[in-house]
Amino acid sequence: MADINGFLKIKRKEAGNRPVHERICDHSEVEQILNSEDRMLQASRCMDCGIPFCHWSCPVDNLIPEWNDLLYRGDWRGAYLRLNATNNFPEFTGRICPAPCEHGCVLNINQEPVTIRENEVAIVERAFSEGYIKPQPPKVRTGKKVAVIGSGPAGMAAADLLNKTGHSVTLFEKDEKAGGLLRYGIPDFKLSKATIDRRLNLMIKEGLVVKTGITVGKDISGKELLDQFDALCITIGAGHPRDLPIEGREMAGIYYAMDFLKLQNKVNSGQLNSNDNPVSAENKRVLVIGGGDTGSDCVGTSIRQKALSVTQIEILPKPPETRAENNPWPYWGKILKTSTSHEEGCERFWNLSSVRFTGNNNEVSGVEVEEVSWKSTDGKYSMETVPGTKRIIEADLVLLAMGFVHPVIEGLLSELELELDGRRNVKTGDNHLTSRHKVFAAGDTISGASLVVNAIASGRKVAKSIDRFLKNS
Ligand SMILES: Cc1cc2nc3c(=O)[nH]c(=O)nc-3n(C[C@H](O)[C@H](O)[C@H](O)COP(=O)(O)OP(=O)(O)OC[C@H]3O[C@@H](n4cnc5c(N)ncnc54)[C@H](O)[C@@H]3O)c2cc1C
Ligand code: SF4
Repeated sequence: MADINGFLKIKRKEAGNRPVHERICDHSEVEQILNSEDRMLQASRCMDCGIPFCHWSCPVDNLIPEWNDLLYRGDWRGAYLRLNATNNFPEFTGRICPAPCEHGCVLNINQEPVTIRENEVAIVERAFSEGYIKPQPPKVRTGKKVAVIGSGPAGMAAADLLNKTGHSVTLFEKDEKAGGLLRYGIPDFKLSKATIDRRLNLMIKEGLVVKTGITVGKDISGKELLDQFDALCITIGAGHPRDLPIEGREMAGIYYAMDFLKLQNKVNSGQLNSNDNPVSAENKRVLVIGGGDTGSDCVGTSIRQKALSVTQIEILPKPPETRAENNPWPYWGKILKTSTSHEEGCERFWNLSSVRFTGNNNEVSGVEVEEVSWKSTDGKYSMETVPGTKRIIEADLVLLAMGFVHPVIEGLLSELELELDGRRNVKTGDNHLTSRHKVFAAGDTISGASLVVNAIASGRKVAKSIDRFLKNS
């Protein structure tokens, strides 16, 4: 255990964020870094509970009390080794995980939880800066070949473990650069792309082959890969966005969130000149439809592009500030989340349904919205519109951030005739095997849109299944 009285003496201290007036002028990471001494004191708040609910809440089963203890004692290297035992990419989760572990932290019952996520990123960044993280290519190659299709966190985690086990792994990616939504969805102000490049370079030095700019199912068929490889691992994400098919949807000025975010990420990386960005929020009244994290990323990006105003609307009710009775600890707390982007200047509304887009000359000028109310009958929620509440929110740029419905089926999935589940995600058994021999799948492709930490966990599991399959075949 760290300090037996740590949680009584030390208050939660976060690294904090760069000031709003400074950070909205660039796209660099918002979160700052706490000094090492304070960080070790923060680790001392961990109580090493008999049943560590933080560990139970972490999808990759991070050994949180163990590395907090090592961190408190100043054994940064030991802490990194414990962390690395369960998480391939703590530098990603330490930056952008919503930290369900902190919701489950026992201190969270009546105090502020341990800064688990920040401790995690501090440990891995120290490991990089002190040089303990070095390429570790496998000593022996098995002679088996695996193709991983899709280079998001699920594909990266699967490829990393399979390569380290000694299989020869090729990671295929349709975009110009690898990383999936880490690179082209999540903005730089949450996760710098240098962090992804650093990890990919390490994996390439360990023998991973990365082939970008190749859409499997179009540039090369899935069946060709089946002939060339001993196993296929499909981690193509859940890229089919949810649409809003209401009157006026065809007008100019209405985009999916990902089309907007991807362009800014390309500008940041020098793949696109900012003057050539076809979807900019500059001098526009922006309306983001969808109250989740993707919507919040559109808010922060619009503010950095110097939008005139940014409004975000959500059809669901405003979450409570504290846990509701039917949402007890240690479960994920369904409470109001205010992101750093919201702090930067955004008006938010809940219980609003979009009725139709308004516009002139085929250019969007706003959205007619109507208030809704929700009621629960026998645990089932139903929605009713509130008469007489229609109004128009004016907007020159509308961003649809209502999530994703399932993976893109056209192309690879239909070519391989993979069975889908009721939500049109790829159906797999517990071992991540699809309906087709030799073809496995993981990440958002099988779960639907989720989180980076869940994608990593799924990538780790599929790698173990594929390894077992290859050893037995
Ligand atoms: C804007 C946004 C912000 C988010 N923010 C967060 C956050 O802060 N924290 C968090 O935990 N989660 C966040 N998420 C969710 C998280 O990014 C995803 O759950 C996660 O990336 C899923 O990983 P994946 O590997 O399954 O798929 P993806 O990351 O989607 O990667 C799939 C990859 O497959 C490639 N691909 C698709 N088809 C083919 C093909 N036929 N051939 C070759 N390649 C192909 C795609 O180009 C892509 O690179 C966010 C999502 C979005 C959209
Ligand atoms: S990966 Fe996420 S849930 Fe797990 S310890 Fe890190 S921040 Fe917590």
